Amino acid sequence: MKKKPTLGIYGFTGCAGCQLAILDCEDILVDLFNYVDIKVFYEAMSNNEDIANVDIALIEGSINTNKQLNELKEIREKAKVLVAFGSCANFGGLQAMALGDGKWEQRFTKVYGDAKFTVAIPREAQPIHKFVKVDAFIPGCPPSTPQMLKALTQLLHGNQPTYTNSPVCLECKFRENECLLNDGKLCLGPLTMGGCTAPCPSHNTPCIGCWGIIEEANHTSELKLLKEKGFKTEDIIQRFRIFGGSKIVEKVQKLLEVE
Ligand code: SF4
Ligand code: SF4
Ligand code: SF4
Repeated sequence: MKKKPTLGIYGFTGCAGCQLAILDCEDILVDLFNYVDIKVFYEAMSNNEDIANVDIALIEGSINTNKQLNELKEIREKAKVLVAFGSCANFGGLQAMALGDGKWEQRFTKVYGDAKFTVAIPREAQPIHKFVKVDAFIPGCPPSTPQMLKALTQLLHGNQPTYTNSPVCLECKFRENECLLNDGKLCLGPLTMGGCTAPCPSHNTPCIGCWGIIEEANHTSELKLLKEKGFKTEDIIQRFRIFGGSKIVEKVQKLLEVE
């Protein structure tokens, strides 16, 4: 009998919603569990192998403690393919909203005072690519079922996942929504990677970019348009910070400064 590919699903700092998204694939879950040999999945199994040698490791969450960092390094050593799974692992998530502003220690002290941490020494939240080589990513907060299953299938067949190469706006237009920008609402749809099917603007709520910035967008032109529509630079940057982590903020800030 052919040996099944092995999978490890690990969760660091996040809401565990990405792992839950896997369990949410109810009708195909049995097929998935039959096709792969899951060695680690703390959210769903009780007989886990701590950190296992696996073909594919899916990592949810950002790195917020030294203990997590050591574990991440060990997972990397034991996985043939390591995947950043969801926005927290990819960009740092909400907890990395202020990443890179140089005030983390100040904020930390304000909340925890001089409390001594002995087991899990805290550190500023960072996405996993800051510490280890990441072979592939699956976007979303949480990833959508179709895109997650497509990416997993591609990975299990030894291929790189393919992504939606158009912004959220395209999916928003397919759903025949009125554009929120025309209503004075700051929507990041034009700069955000599609694939989520635009649930937020479809419910009259601006996109806050949780799938990450789309690389091939015309960022300069879009940011110019937002400014022309009266949105302030600090508001645009603040909105990008929600999910973007420092990388996106640096990019946007640079573009806005160049104008
Ligand atoms: S990416 Fe979103 S759903 Fe996944 S762990 Fe982070 S906050 Fe939760
Ligand atoms: S509402 Fe947002 S996502 Fe929809 S078309 Fe307008 S900018 Fe794009
Ligand atoms: S519309 Fe934007 S904020 Fe909403 S799920 Fe899609 S990417 Fe995330």
